[in-house]
Amino acid sequence: MLLLPATMFHLLLVAHSGPARLLGPPPYLPGPEVLWSPQTLLLWLAWLGLQAALYLLPARKVAEGQELKDKSRLRYPINGFQALVLTALLVGLAVSAGLPLGALPEMLLPLAFAATLTAFIFSLLLYLKALVAPASALAPGGNSGNPIYDFFLGRELNPRIWSFDFKYFCELRPGLIGWVLINLALLMQEAELRGSPSLAMWLVNGFQLLYVGDALWHEEAVLTTMDITHDGFGFMLAFGDLAWVPFTYSLQAQFLLHHPQPLGLPMASVICLINAVGYYIFRGANSQKNTFRKNPSDPRVAGLETIPTATGRQLLVSGWWGMVRHPNYLGDLIMALAWSLPCGVSHLLPYFYVLYFTALLVHREARDEQQCLRKYGLAWREYCRRVPYRILPYVY
Ligand code: NDP
Repeated sequence: MLLLPATMFHLLLVAHSGPARLLGPPPYLPGPEVLWSPQTLLLWLAWLGLQAALYLLPARKVAEGQELKDKSRLRYPINGFQALVLTALLVGLAVSAGLPLGALPEMLLPLAFAATLTAFIFSLLLYLKALVAPASALAPGGNSGNPIYDFFLGRELNPRIWSFDFKYFCELRPGLIGWVLINLALLMQEAELRGSPSLAMWLVNGFQLLYVGDALWHEEAVLTTMDITHDGFGFMLAFGDLAWVPFTYSLQAQFLLHHPQPLGLPMASVICLINAVGYYIFRGANSQKNTFRKNPSDPRVAGLETIPTATGRQLLVSGWWGMVRHPNYLGDLIMALAWSLPCGVSHLLPYFYVLYFTALLVHREARDEQQCLRKYGLAWREYCRRVPYRILPYVY
């Protein structure tokens, strides 16, 4: 809980420094006057308020989540992409009315501090709320009785006030949309500094906008992910969604603003191709599983080979899920590499995301395997026998 915010501030500081050394010391230690600013806190709260208001707008669809312990299903508004488009319109209007978006990069440290503070306070409130929640509402993992562990992992599975679902709201909106907004601000500041944005900056912005737009377009798919179906809502997700994602995932664009990198068209084309391959695998695998879980008789997946399990659910054993046991992670990692490559090879810093994300997905994959083994027993062992590799064919 202390190391994650410390790493985030280290990255923010180092990205601005001349040497930009990932493993070197930060250029200076920011004092409270650099981190704390009531105006920035207000700006951050206004951002959360705007996203909450957009969440409450009428949705094109209301989806049902997975079945809960008490056999009920929660309902979720599918309007994340609408929130992205409306935010873009509002920001566009504000910029044309004179809002200096290019000034945002100068505020990243106090904004990250405000986000961290909010994540701590929010997690504490969630922990207290979970103390009075019924046992059926608790997550399988965050109820060890150790308050620090449970505060970190999250006790309640789907904390809500009326129909406002805090975890679902935080998962894809303030952080992901904030991330592309920070990227855009960095692009605008680069244009102010150097006359026009660099090709590398365009690529990083384009790739990451595609990723965020895709996540929000397929928002319903988040309802079958581990975060929603298994993990409680505590510090891990609150800090991850609200602070870690926007402020560290924009690291490549932050790096490029202070360390411009030459990039020719042939290399840019190769990088675009790598991103496209990653996206193709990522989207293909996620959509295939999602379609199958929603309706196994859907013609797009009905012909795939499956393994029956004692729970009545089936496991795909051909198509993307017959290649490796987590093809979606493989696609995600290939894209992560494509986001770093525009930053050249002179520094390790822009590769932080690929390194961290590999560790995260390897750990996440192991957690998921344990859960699937518990859930599906022998059928899962049979799946592992038929599909021996976890993420990378013939390697891992
Ligand atoms: P997955 O979408 O991979 O879901 C895992 C679940 O899928 C399993 O628990 C199981 O659940 C089901 N499943 C596993 N194997 C099969 C099979 N063979 N056939 C059918 N169902 C199967 O998990 P995540 O939530 O980890 O990832 C979702 C996406 O989000 C991924 O693309 C990942 O890369 C991305 N992600 C991105 C992050 C980021 O920071 N950028 C962070 C985390 C994830 P069940 O059987 O109950 O349906």
